[in-house]
Amino acid sequence: MIVYGSRSTHLKSEQLRNAVCPNCETRGQLTASVYGRHAHVFWIPFFPMGNTGILGCQHCHKGFKPKELDEKAKMEYKNFRGTVKTPLWKFAGLGIVALLIGAGIFSNKMTEEKVTELVANPAMFDKYTFKTEANYYSTFKVVEVFKDSIYVNYNDYETDKKSGLKDIDIEKNYDKDIYVLTNADLEGLHSAGKIEDIERTK
Ligand SMILES: [Zn+2]
Repeated sequence: MIVYGSRSTHLKSEQLRNAVCPNCETRGQLTASVYGRHAHVFWIPFFPMGNTGILGCQHCHKGFKPKELDEKAKMEYKNFRGTVKTPLWKFAGLGIVALLIGAGIFSNKMTEEKVTELVANPAMFDKYTFKTEANYYSTFKVVEVFKDSIYVNYNDYETDKKSGLKDIDIEKNYDKDIYVLTNADLEGLHSAGKIEDIERTK
């Protein structure tokens, strides 16, 4: 369940020095306040949703909307409104999402570079995570390395989710039969985007 909603917080207040109260016509007693609404997800502020201004007279204690002011007071209110800034914390959720996306892209790039390097230089006990024809995930491990080919043992099992790999990646699942993959086969798998990851244990 995702808990979300919106909430208003006080941003800034200021007394308008020259504005006249629309009700009691006292000058300089109007206080303008601006409240900012923001969307939150699990109480983490995500993004601002606009500001609302209200005015209160300290003399007659009546409240007003900005549009109820006379033209001169509206100008003064607008000037004050121009000084109200949306605090950065109201963007916290968007910032977190941006960081996560950035970290994800970075981590994918690191994995890609590692795979490219390890495919070019296979070593004993390298464990490959690959995508099958039907886009399932499975693994094989390198059991012998030659100049232009490798011997591998395939995992007998496959899984439809990456998170399932840890369940099938156990020693007794590896077929003892030897399969030969040439370096060209490996490069082919790699350029087809079939190699998800390589784990080098030694
Ligand atoms: Zn008043």
